[in-house]
Amino acid sequence: MPKPPFYEPLSGLLRPFSLRTVLAAVFVLQIASAAGLLGLLTFYLGSWQIGLLSLGAIATSAVIGLAVVNRILQPIAQLQRALQAAARGDWRTPVPVDNPDELGQLALAFNRMAARLHDSFTELEHLNHEMQHSERRWRHFLDGIPLGIAVYDRSGQMVFASEQARILLCLEDMPSVPSLSLEETFIAYRTSTGDRYPTETLPIAQALRGAAGWADDLELRPGNRSIPIEIVTTPIFDQAGQVEYAIAAFQDITTRKQAQTVLANYSQTLEHQVADRTAALRQAEATQRIILAAIPDLLVRFSGEGVCLDVMNAGAVEPIAAPKDQIGKAIGEVLPPQMAAERMHYIRLALQTGQTQVYEYKFQLPTGVRYEEARIVPSGSNQVLAIVRDITERKRAEAEIASQRQFLQNVIDSIPSIIVVKDRDDRVKMANRASATLHGITPQDMVGKRDHEFNANISAFEVARQRHIHQQVIATRTPYQGEQEIIDRAGVRRWYQVVISPFRAANGVVNGVITNCIDITDRKSMETALTDANKTLEQLATLDGLTHISNRRRFDDYLEQEWQRMVREQQPLSLIMFDVDYFKPYNDSLGHQQGDEALIAIAAAATQAVKRAADLLARYGGEEFAVVLPNTRRTGAEIVAQAIKDEIAALALPHPESSVSDYLTVSIGIASVVPTADQSPDDLIAAADSALYQAKRRGRDRYWIRLI
Ligand code: GH3
Ligand code: MG
Ligand code: MG
Repeated sequence: MPKPPFYEPLSGLLRPFSLRTVLAAVFVLQIASAAGLLGLLTFYLGSWQIGLLSLGAIATSAVIGLAVVNRILQPIAQLQRALQAAARGDWRTPVPVDNPDELGQLALAFNRMAARLHDSFTELEHLNHEMQHSERRWRHFLDGIPLGIAVYDRSGQMVFASEQARILLCLEDMPSVPSLSLEETFIAYRTSTGDRYPTETLPIAQALRGAAGWADDLELRPGNRSIPIEIVTTPIFDQAGQVEYAIAAFQDITTRKQAQTVLANYSQTLEHQVADRTAALRQAEATQRIILAAIPDLLVRFSGEGVCLDVMNAGAVEPIAAPKDQIGKAIGEVLPPQMAAERMHYIRLALQTGQTQVYEYKFQLPTGVRYEEARIVPSGSNQVLAIVRDITERKRAEAEIASQRQFLQNVIDSIPSIIVVKDRDDRVKMANRASATLHGITPQDMVGKRDHEFNANISAFEVARQRHIHQQVIATRTPYQGEQEIIDRAGVRRWYQVVISPFRAANGVVNGVITNCIDITDRKSMETALTDANKTLEQLATLDGLTHISNRRRFDDYLEQEWQRMVREQQPLSLIMFDVDYFKPYNDSLGHQQGDEALIAIAAAATQAVKRAADLLARYGGEEFAVVLPNTRRTGAEIVAQAIKDEIAALALPHPESSVSDYLTVSIGIASVVPTADQSPDDLIAAADSALYQAKRRGRDRYWIRLI
């Protein structure tokens, strides 16, 4: 502690008075003492000349005194005015400096400070503006996608919610989302039980703890509706590897859930329907076969001219006329004219060609319509045998079958999803209209054919794949579920949810498959949009905002990954770390903005020097960069280091404050190792850092190597 001067107590006494008062007092004292002295001299010497001289001295001292007071008070007043202006936000009013004395120094220092503060404020304003602009763009984009996007900061406060998110979370009334907690904003319920979903088990809470999350067993209740949702969450880390915030993307999956239920129910119903119909059909066919077998045919012999020669009848086919009334008569006398003409035509044809002629006809009886089938067999040089069979029952069964088929076809045609039944050989047994429309044909065009026979767009590979799936479904009797892209005849690609179930015949034997496809193109494109958005976010999280090269987080991940690979492959791994020389003085002399531009230019120059695909250049922090060089030994790393140095030198960025060069330079540390399991990437970083320190210590603008 320096000893206080002897007059210290006196200055203490004067402290309550302003500088102006004290100076005025000194001035008055000075005048008073001069006047006293003048009085004394005049009294003792009695000479008026001396009195006049002393009067002159008093006047001079008064003028000098006034000048001194003014000299001291004026700059102080100026400084005070400038400070008041600065307090009002006006930084541009400089204090005039007219003398390099202490007060002049003070004014200079003040001006410098004001200029610096002014620059900082301008930059801050610019940054704020930029930030608002970019934030607006993001909000706009996120509001546009049909997903709820919510962002929470590390303390679990909601900092952003897209329009869709605000609707789903009942936050629509709020113009902007205030800081609300996760508990207050994300009110979800379990789909299965309807209980409140515990906040700490929400995927967002998981993301806030640093792990990506997913769930689709929860629902939100905006208004009085229940909306099942699917949620995907991603943690975003800061440079220190701490979770900075969590992003949640969620969507309404009501239609998907409904589609799943409808599809499951529908496949089952259809399967039963088809099985029932097939059973009925088989039954009808069997009955008909028994009937036909039991009916003995009616046999009639005719001459080439159509005269009835003989009739043999077991009694099952009731002839139109009694045999005795037919024999010896011409056809025209027995049968109605049109039937007679038709039979005559086939008798001639049979005799001409020597071939059996078969034809069907019907006629009205008092009991109803009867269908008959006649076979005209040439049985001699000029005679034929007509074998007549009553096919009324068969015709009726056929009609019934056709109407049943039509009914089933109508049912499946009314279903908008694609339905195709195929047999064991992959031939279409039945198809609905939706499936045929896809290829611009009718269901009938598909029946009996394989896929590639009516769909030119299907590849051989796809045909083989389908066949494999069908065989598996048939063998295991278990339905197959999957998603598949199908190109229609217009070349438009659409996504379908495909369910292929075993198709059972009436007797329970699986003899084919039934395929049902539901169009999920819209959902797919939504999934793609989500993936893209996540990819963009992921990219943002791994890039440095200023230089657009990889950030510290990406560097850490990549170094760890390549370290493990090099341990396995026993290959060398090199690490380069470089730091800009005298960067603080660079910033101080040219401004922070210029400093930022220099960092961007250096990152771009170093990118040129780092050539291999596996090499990774990253901003390690501040004005420090790092390069990971897998499969690279010391000599290779040295070449890269030299190239970085050269590229940066070629930028020729003037550096007025550097002690090593007129231009901006870097110091580089290199470390190389063939890593072993008992070492860690941190050892490599420490070695490169220490080499960088050596390069700095040995004069900067150079590289230094350290092997471990
Ligand atoms: P040395 O030659 O020993 O490396 O000295 P230096 O001045 O470069 O090192 P120091 O660590 O003292 O200063 C680094 C400076 O880099 C300080 C900081 O203001 C500046 N800096 C760090 N990050 C940025 C940035 O993003 N932009 C700008 N403009 N400057 C930065
Ligand atoms: Mg540094
Ligand atoms: Mg530096």
